[in-house]
Amino acid sequence: MNFTVLTLFPKLVDSFFEHGMISRGIEKNLITGHCINIRDFSCDRHNTVDDRPYGGGSGMVMKPEPLQAAILAAKKKAPESLVVLMTPQGNRFNQEKAFELAWRNKGLIFVCGRYEGIDERIATTLVDEEISIGDYVMTGGELASMVIIDSIARLIPGVLGSSESAKSDSFIDDRLEYAQYTRPEEFEGLKVPEVLLSGNHEKIRLWRKESSLKRTFLKRVDLLHKSRLNAEEKKIFKRWSQELETFVRE
Ligand code: SAM
Repeated sequence: MNFTVLTLFPKLVDSFFEHGMISRGIEKNLITGHCINIRDFSCDRHNTVDDRPYGGGSGMVMKPEPLQAAILAAKKKAPESLVVLMTPQGNRFNQEKAFELAWRNKGLIFVCGRYEGIDERIATTLVDEEISIGDYVMTGGELASMVIIDSIARLIPGVLGSSESAKSDSFIDDRLEYAQYTRPEEFEGLKVPEVLLSGNHEKIRLWRKESSLKRTFLKRVDLLHKSRLNAEEKKIFKRWSQELETFVRE
């Protein structure tokens, strides 16, 4: 899958492509990642990429011509790719969206705004989708594009060390992941739950199921409202409610 980032600060994103899981995915030819400097497409000798907003007001707006040329250049290299504008006004990014984009496997061209954002005519003519990473405003779209690339890349088969790791991640089937422990067995007087040392796979699976359910209930009950409990989960909830009942009666 191709990731192309159109930005005024390519160095910010280049270093992201050079590290960790992303760089390994690139080495294995599972993904490609590169930046296009929007400034390279400016039309004057001062390399201007922004201008004052029509109608007045503070800040500057990114000019349409360099953006158009940069997007068309990126499209020429990767015609199948979707053009995605990073904007706080876009559709909210989440794990479901990450899966959708990973499965579509079409390649993505990210348009990173700066200043007050980009000229509206680019958004309405050359952009396939507007995406936001949350209800807050950052100074540029680069961090947002890296957040999105990171979460999509780890879903592409082979990019993560173990294909199993992504299967139990939080938000799969609207549940948070179970509690995790590693060595040492005891830390500051706190012990790893016995069952995890037992080697009994079924007991471990059940413990994890319960841990995941407990965390989802306590931290993100909204997720439980989104999807029905399965038979095993109902059984766990019934047991909890019986335990609570006894507790209240005592
Ligand atoms: N004036 C714009 C508004 O109020 O909608 C915000 C512009 S912001 C200062 C500059 C750029 O940062 C945006 O064009 C966008 O590319 C990026 N950006 C800021 N917050 C973002 C978010 N939550 N998600 C995605 N991109 C964001």
